Amino acid sequence: MEKQIMSSTPKKIKMEERKGRRVVLFPLPFQGHIRPMIQLGNLLHTRGFSITIVHTTFNSPDPSLYPHFTFHFLHEDILSQSQTDIIAFLKVLNTNCLQSFTDCLARLLSDDHESPISCFISDAGFTFTGEVARQLNLPRLVLRTGGVTSFFVFAAFPFLREKGYLPIQESRLEEQVAEFPHLKVKDLPVIKTCDPDYLFEHVSGMVNGAKSSAGVIFNTFQELEDAAIAALSQDFQVPIFPIGPFHKLLPNSPPTQPDQTAAITWLDKQAPSSVIYVSFGTLAALNEQDFVEIAWGLANSKQPFLWVVRPGLVNGSDWVDLLPKGLIGDLRERGLIVKWAPQLQVLAHPSVAVFWTHNGWNSTLESVCEGVPMICMPCFTDQKVNARYARDIWRVGLGFESGKLIEREEIERVIRRAMVGEEGKEIRKRVLEWKEKARDCLGANNGSSFESLERLVSHISSFDSLVFSSQ
Ligand code: UDP
Repeated sequence: MEKQIMSSTPKKIKMEERKGRRVVLFPLPFQGHIRPMIQLGNLLHTRGFSITIVHTTFNSPDPSLYPHFTFHFLHEDILSQSQTDIIAFLKVLNTNCLQSFTDCLARLLSDDHESPISCFISDAGFTFTGEVARQLNLPRLVLRTGGVTSFFVFAAFPFLREKGYLPIQESRLEEQVAEFPHLKVKDLPVIKTCDPDYLFEHVSGMVNGAKSSAGVIFNTFQELEDAAIAALSQDFQVPIFPIGPFHKLLPNSPPTQPDQTAAITWLDKQAPSSVIYVSFGTLAALNEQDFVEIAWGLANSKQPFLWVVRPGLVNGSDWVDLLPKGLIGDLRERGLIVKWAPQLQVLAHPSVAVFWTHNGWNSTLESVCEGVPMICMPCFTDQKVNARYARDIWRVGLGFESGKLIEREEIERVIRRAMVGEEGKEIRKRVLEWKEKARDCLGANNGSSFESLERLVSHISSFDSLVFSSQ
């Protein structure tokens, strides 16, 4: 029987159809967090909710692209802070936004002109918002934009510290974590920071903030992370809503900027299933040596490639000027280098064969949903868990084993294994099976994400009596 896929095109819904319910969304200001929160907003909007987004002026989305949402901005002086140390930056964000977010939400609650607020949904990384919810007596849900498996590992940080796995010791990197049999110590989701104490404080704030929330929403699907979802549900005692993949519930917006259309036009000219798409997301940074090795590896692989070199990818450079001139010439003959690519369209393009990724959660899920096998090169935090699962559990990716510095010869070898070897065929076959599961979970006929979304909508609707009776 054909499964009905939820149609979630943002459309105008008359105010009276909305039953006066408003949901306020508060995303962390990073692309990998803003995009899923906006997608969640679109999903809830199609279910009749009015959506208000509260955002820092730093990295803000363009409100003109979302005329169906209301925006409020927090004018915090965050821009002057360096963002190279993500943990230090998260500390600044959480400290600086506390008062302005509380004031903004209090103003919205007392505004008679807007429809009443049922609840707010905060990114899990805004750890202070539990206290705000208590102060304002407003239900608060949490969106965790990473996977459930990595979140479960974050939740085990106190235990992992007690057992001596954390902080990570170089001498134990290859050791298996007995309590997480699929992970080695090197896969634990940590990140280099000048403030390691705050890393633990932040993770604990994120986990406890989720535990004390009215529910945790994940951009994942039951079949992909079944075991972790079961374990987390038991441990957390609050409702868990795996309602992803969000982007498959919504229509893709076509590329608009010249850099983006160039990528698709170039892909249109390539042979089917011939191109390696290379992108390391919006935050990861490479050092010069790794960048140069990657470029040589790509050139020597003799495969067509589309490579995103975003400003800031390489420390101390904004573009490819660190590469030798002759190499740039070789690269241009075989591939295209862009500063940004419309990744959803790229992964869905028939010319793309393999995605060389840093395994950010969005990228990992997007690759699975399009049936594109991965070459996994995680940099930090949850990417390491995602990569391990992509390789060993879902078996849809290959990786590097050579330690920290990747060498061009190994890159060439891995690309060859993924593009032409038997292993390449295996991971391609498996990822296509996952693609089907990702599609099936959205079906109105028992689809797991469809049912979770229904549950979420009723859950939010149930807040109305609670909130409005106390107003
Ligand atoms: N992205 C994109 N074009 C690019 C680079 C990234 O559209 O050139 C999108 C990608 O599709 C994904 C998000 O940016 O949705 C990156 O999120 P992810 O969790 O993969 O990584 P992060 O940037 O948070 O490390």
